[in-house]
Amino acid sequence: MISTLTQMIQGAKRAVFFGGAGVSTESDIPDFRSAEGLYSKLSDRYVSPEELLSRSFFISHPAEFYKFYKEQLLAPNARPNRAHYALARMERDGKLAAVITQNIDGLHQEAGSGTVYEVHGSTRRNYCMKCREEYGLDFVLEAPGPVPLCEKCGGIVRPDVTLYEEALPEAALALSARAVQEADLFIVGGTSLVVYPAAGLLEYYSGENLVIINREPTPYDGRASLIFRDSIGEVLEGAWPEKAR
Ligand code: ZN
Repeated sequence: MISTLTQMIQGAKRAVFFGGAGVSTESDIPDFRSAEGLYSKLSDRYVSPEELLSRSFFISHPAEFYKFYKEQLLAPNARPNRAHYALARMERDGKLAAVITQNIDGLHQEAGSGTVYEVHGSTRRNYCMKCREEYGLDFVLEAPGPVPLCEKCGGIVRPDVTLYEEALPEAALALSARAVQEADLFIVGGTSLVVYPAAGLLEYYSGENLVIINREPTPYDGRASLIFRDSIGEVLEGAWPEKAR
């Protein structure tokens, strides 16, 4: 089966990879959607990750937000895994046109991928809500107080990630849709394909081969030419290994 995927990649010129949380969990980054209810001391009640990561909670409780965000969501020591590196090789070899990711950790770029569309934003980009001054991840990690404040105007600095109650970044979505439309191979990994925009993006694909790499069944398995229930890193590295050059 992996040799079939290798052949598909060899025949591709504009493959697109769409990745969900499963890509990052292989780098030991927790999937917050599977986290248990978290206790918020401030409000003296249990707060779900969905509420903690909502725009209204960020505005009303920025210190609580950042406590959770830094302790549970940021993984500054996480490193790219075999999936990230295999995708970077596929791009370098002229096979892959774009990576579309729901992850916010920036690991695809760290592994060397150039065209990455982040449909939920990135923890590596942060900006002042008042004056829009931009800051990196280190600024947030090293902020002296519970909430990082802008050096220019004192405004609250927030991560450029899509919180609940917020719209997904339009530019990244439009570029993703176009890449999928033009794709000659679509590989989906680490997502159950039930949540927007994952399912929506699949509708743009009119190519021949759809490959799904996911531990659990997805609603699109019937449309797939190949399905793997294994580790994404194992499958992608197996299909497109580092060549001895
Ligand atoms: Zn500012």
